[in-house]
Amino acid sequence: MAQTVFAPVATPIIPIIGGDLFPVHRIFCVGRNYAAHAAEMGHAVDREAPFYFNKSAHAVLTSGQEMPYPPRTDDLHHEMELVVALGQGGRDIAASDAYDFVYGYACGLDMTRRDLQAQAKEKRRPWDTGKDFENAAIIAPISPASQMKDLATQPIRLTVNGDLRQEATLGDMIWSIPEIIADLSTLYHLQPGDLIMTGTPAGVGPVVRGDQLRGTIGDLTPVETKIV
Ligand code: MN
Repeated sequence: MAQTVFAPVATPIIPIIGGDLFPVHRIFCVGRNYAAHAAEMGHAVDREAPFYFNKSAHAVLTSGQEMPYPPRTDDLHHEMELVVALGQGGRDIAASDAYDFVYGYACGLDMTRRDLQAQAKEKRRPWDTGKDFENAAIIAPISPASQMKDLATQPIRLTVNGDLRQEATLGDMIWSIPEIIADLSTLYHLQPGDLIMTGTPAGVGPVVRGDQLRGTIGDLTPVETKIV
């Protein structure tokens, strides 16, 4: 019987508050989902349709671990984001049913090689090298959705070495969580284990070795890392 020629890479796992484990399938990321961030990047608010880029599941770094400064960049940026973890799959999901597909929520950091992303934008090339690289998706333990109430009023913040860099509320999102799930489910057959990084508020900026990052959203477990 034929065998795989080397051991398959293990599925990345994120801890769930309470002790269970969440196996990661795919990571979808929403671009420009807060008006003030769109403005700081030089774009107008666009309610025409959300847009996405993806990160590999193998880009996950568990919160609390150190992030080695990645190669081929001099401009590594933080983007603090709410992560939606899907517990059920589906396609063509109605926005009114979308919360039924959510397993839980987590704090996450969409780490970005901004210089490579900027070059890609300028040359009309894909964003992959700017966005999808090892340790570029730092995810905190997931809280089951039942423990989250009144999502829209939750504050989202990021500090670097204790200084506040990003601050907004989840209600500032241009596209709501149900709208994102509904739209994504027309592009992909969503699966349990899919994560959605829902975009970052204004205040993104560079980090350097030695910086301590801490991101919070309401009562969710903070996402933390040190750049080394
Ligand atoms: Mn982002």
